[in-house]
Amino acid sequence: MYRTKNCGELRIEDVNQEVVLSGWVQRKRDKGGMIWIDLRDRYGLTQLVFEEGKDDDAIIKKLDNIGREFVLKIVGIVIERFSKNPDLPTGDIEIRVKELHILSKSATPPFTIEDNTDGGEDLRMKYRYLDIRRKPVRDKLVLRHKMAQAVRRFLDTQDFIEVETPYLIKSTPEGARDFIVPSRMHTGTFYALPQSPQTFKQLLMVGGIDKYFQIVKCFRDEDLRADRQPEFTQIDCEMSFVTQDEVLTQFEGLVQYLFKEVKGINVNTPFVRMPYTEAMERYGNDKPDLRFGMEIKNISQAAQGKGFQVFDSVEYIGGICANNCAEYTRKQIDELIEFVKRPQIGAKGLVYVKYNSDGSFKSSVDKFFDKDTFNQWAEIIEAKPGDLMLILAGDKNKTLTQLSELRIEMGNRLDLRKPNEFKPLWVTDFPLLEWDDETQRFYAMHHPFTSPKPEDITLMESNPANVRANAYDMVINGVEVGGGSIRIFDTDLQQRMFNLLGFTEDEAKAQFGFLMDAFTYGAPPHGGIAFGFDRLCALFGGTESIRDYIAFPKNNTGRDVMIDAPATVSVEQLKELSLSIYKQTE
Ligand code: ASP
Repeated sequence: MYRTKNCGELRIEDVNQEVVLSGWVQRKRDKGGMIWIDLRDRYGLTQLVFEEGKDDDAIIKKLDNIGREFVLKIVGIVIERFSKNPDLPTGDIEIRVKELHILSKSATPPFTIEDNTDGGEDLRMKYRYLDIRRKPVRDKLVLRHKMAQAVRRFLDTQDFIEVETPYLIKSTPEGARDFIVPSRMHTGTFYALPQSPQTFKQLLMVGGIDKYFQIVKCFRDEDLRADRQPEFTQIDCEMSFVTQDEVLTQFEGLVQYLFKEVKGINVNTPFVRMPYTEAMERYGNDKPDLRFGMEIKNISQAAQGKGFQVFDSVEYIGGICANNCAEYTRKQIDELIEFVKRPQIGAKGLVYVKYNSDGSFKSSVDKFFDKDTFNQWAEIIEAKPGDLMLILAGDKNKTLTQLSELRIEMGNRLDLRKPNEFKPLWVTDFPLLEWDDETQRFYAMHHPFTSPKPEDITLMESNPANVRANAYDMVINGVEVGGGSIRIFDTDLQQRMFNLLGFTEDEAKAQFGFLMDAFTYGAPPHGGIAFGFDRLCALFGGTESIRDYIAFPKNNTGRDVMIDAPATVSVEQLKELSLSIYKQTE
């Protein structure tokens, strides 16, 4: 038998018990005749104690050869510790070892396997199996497991059925590039890996499975931005015979349940529901962080026509109020100016107005504006004496985006983004389409199966840019955790949508004939959502990186540095697939 107990469970009540433990050597300490080993497994650490002269010589001798990460099995007696360690659950006891077996040796690990490691990210990814031995990493995988279990429990009680959908499918244009897989049996043809199970879950609705979910891998061959993975996991859901409101209620219920079950936190429902245009006006962003106010205010009217050329020549002037920051120093203001001028943000400059506690104003544009004007701005921006107004001007959409970045920066500086506070909301009524200047065509903002709002359908051909969709995102603390829509379930409307996206009837048939056909056999009204599961875990775990919550993630160039993928394949494999590699030359 390898173990009767694990390394995390022995307590003072267990003293005098004989136990068998197995685990890894976390550390060995030798203090002149006394030797201690911390033995580690998934459950914790237990201290083993050895004493020269008192313990069997053969055992003491064996210890010489034992190093970090050796795998041991021991048989011993639980004894009370002389100096207890209150930080360790097993800190009251230690084991006097009677039998010691080395089950496996270990090379010196490339980094220390402790909570705070000296290993850099690359090294830890190359030896991810060693990284996983560290408690902080293991805890994140445990959190993920708990989340997945809770999702299944909740959706099961709500009559959802978990159905698997295929990974080898046909390309579905959902905005990203597909990963493709050559077929050996059908020379010259390819499968694509799903960007999401979108069309399949819709077909399940046509199939009468009126509540579907799946915790499922999705694949998108995108240039990787921070916090993206080429394969990631969704909690994918779809329902029939539902209105948008019912979908939102159902899934805020799921998220409320997860908060309660996994974090013991109560979040109130219904979540705030905010139309896209309102989110953009008030926060400059379609995923606003509602943990703090500092809303963006439009001061264009109150700021133009006073002879300040920079303001007079632009489309939009907006500001935010940083409470109690009127005493910001020159250096602090300069930092903010540097911040907005960063190329990623791209503002030309920043106007500040300090609303001093004595009621006077001090600003970078004193020359152009009088006290009355500043008072007017303060009223709009909701600044009080002691506050600092920060103002940006330019093209409306760009300026709103820049103000949104500045707002987040100020939120961070003022410590307003509390890690243990959660403020979820739904952003609704997204535009159906997005115009792309480069290719001179519309793209679906969500995906081609999203339904326009019924009252906007008449605008589809005359004013497509203004058509709103029955689409929604769930946003928590500035993070988009999920998104979905009510779907088109009518062949003609779907065809009109494809037309807007530039598909001819034949092209649409070739690509989506199966879905359009299905709609001709009695399709129920339906809609759904998908949550980014990795991201949801990261949000619950309180860290930024989704990579931490994936057991074997890819690095930021899409490589798995541990197994060394992607990699070349043999000429024989290529031949079987009737493929040859051609090198692109300039
Ligand atoms: N399939 C969509 C996505 O992956 C989600 C949905 O519309 O349900 O974004």
